[in-house]
Amino acid sequence: MKEVLTVSINDGCNLMCPHCYLFKGSWGKQTMTDEIIATINLSGYKFVHVVATEPFLNSESIRATTKLGHRTKKAGLGFSVITNGLNIPLAFKLEPSLRELLDFIDVSMDGPTPQLYKKFRGGSYKKFISGVDYAKNAGIDVSILSVLSEETLGYFDEIIRVSEELSTSRFLMAPLVITASREVTFGVHREKYLADIIKMAANSLEFCQSKKGLLDIGLTHTKQSGESMDELKGLASKLGVSEKMFFLEKDPDLLIDRVLVDGKVVAPSTTLV
Ligand code: SF4
Repeated sequence: MKEVLTVSINDGCNLMCPHCYLFKGSWGKQTMTDEIIATINLSGYKFVHVVATEPFLNSESIRATTKLGHRTKKAGLGFSVITNGLNIPLAFKLEPSLRELLDFIDVSMDGPTPQLYKKFRGGSYKKFISGVDYAKNAGIDVSILSVLSEETLGYFDEIIRVSEELSTSRFLMAPLVITASREVTFGVHREKYLADIIKMAANSLEFCQSKKGLLDIGLTHTKQSGESMDELKGLASKLGVSEKMFFLEKDPDLLIDRVLVDGKVVAPSTTLV
């Protein structure tokens, strides 16, 4: 039985990150209807996570996300969202009940300074920081997520420094999964690159001293790089960073279902195209 249901509440975002696997040149304008929200099958799951695109895109999406949150909580399940954070203040102003509904929020960062944020995401870093602060002040547990790609690997220490300063409860860095739709330059295409990333992390004082930073390596990454999960775990242990690694060894398709904006249920891997 799968434990997590992820939901795409809409098919649009207020950013156009070049590394986004969902962006295909333009965004859609759909928001999940009340009818679909009312009929999503929640039985058997323990957690509902609203995932990309952007759940706080506009008032319609914020309302739909809140509606799903109420249904999820009524069914006794956990509830969270992943957002780029830019509209967190708007979401909480429009729907104050989100404070009680959300068990935590994942906020994607990807660019750790105003310049890099602008370059990689095309958005306002100031708004991102305000969003994170707003959620923290509202008493929500916030995690920061950052992808590592050819473009951002060079800023590894910076990502950790900024994430520490944001004083959220944890932050997770994950190599970018390669998909056909992404701009080629943003992927990490070398063979066996995961071992190199682990070595780089073990050599980073910021990473070793961080109490909250974790490096996330999953089965999708090892399948793409051709590396063995056991060997990578052995390497992390040898380098003394095992406790700072998050190895997800199970196939996400066996753990998670995904509901698309039109109500169709798919395996998560089918969205990585
Ligand atoms: S914020 Fe997320 S969903 Fe929006 S463009 Fe960037 S990666 Fe894609």
